[in-house]
Amino acid sequence: MKIHRLPALSDNYVFLLHDPRHQIAAVVDPAEATPVLTQLQALSAQLVAIFNTHHHGDHVGGNARLLHHFPEAIVHGGAVDRGRIPGQQVFLQEGDQIQFGDRHAQVFFVPGHTRAHIAYYFPPHREAETGELFCGDTIFAGGCGRLFEGTPHQMVDSLTKLRNLPDQTRVWCAHEYTLKNLQFALSVDPDNPQLHQRYQRVTQMRQRSESTVPSLLGEEKQTNPFLRWDQPTLQHRVKSMDPIQTFARLRGMKDQF
Ligand code: ZN
Ligand code: FE
Repeated sequence: MKIHRLPALSDNYVFLLHDPRHQIAAVVDPAEATPVLTQLQALSAQLVAIFNTHHHGDHVGGNARLLHHFPEAIVHGGAVDRGRIPGQQVFLQEGDQIQFGDRHAQVFFVPGHTRAHIAYYFPPHREAETGELFCGDTIFAGGCGRLFEGTPHQMVDSLTKLRNLPDQTRVWCAHEYTLKNLQFALSVDPDNPQLHQRYQRVTQMRQRSESTVPSLLGEEKQTNPFLRWDQPTLQHRVKSMDPIQTFARLRGMKDQF
């Protein structure tokens, strides 16, 4: 399975999964159809599945037009999103498995950004040592999604599920927000040496207009304040000893940043 990262809209990423042996493709969160159709044509691949993480327009905006070109493609999304995702045919819950070619992914129910958000995790495989996590707007590189429909408690539960995955998991998040996220991270976690290193690296990458996605989950665990609600330094920073309250205060500060 080869993963193509397609920039879309102003700062979205759409991920095209390609199985060259069977000449099939699937797409994660098609913000718009055009870049997907162009890439499918270049690969001579047939679109067989759309995997949506949640119902927001910048994640499902391309569904209808892709279905027009590939009527056989099956649209997957969260069960709780029923009625909100164009063309949805498969309604997924925590623990479900989906298939693409000869790869399988596990579904995680990760409410918080929306009440229906799901994530797709492809575990490591003989031809690839890294797991692949498609987490939409749940984890961002250096940050996390805003809480539009969920509570801090729900989001911490959701992020805990994803944080438990192996360090070498690649995190394919849906937006290029990394530099801004790390600026915030430094403001609340200024004594974290790994965070400083990451910030310098990302600054240089962005100066060269390089993408910072995917990131590695191991580095997120060390540098992303929204996966570090149980770190004493961050708890001290926001004057709380409660993990959920620590997360909630960090999220509130980021909303104002
Ligand atoms: Zn969203
Ligand atoms: Fe989004």
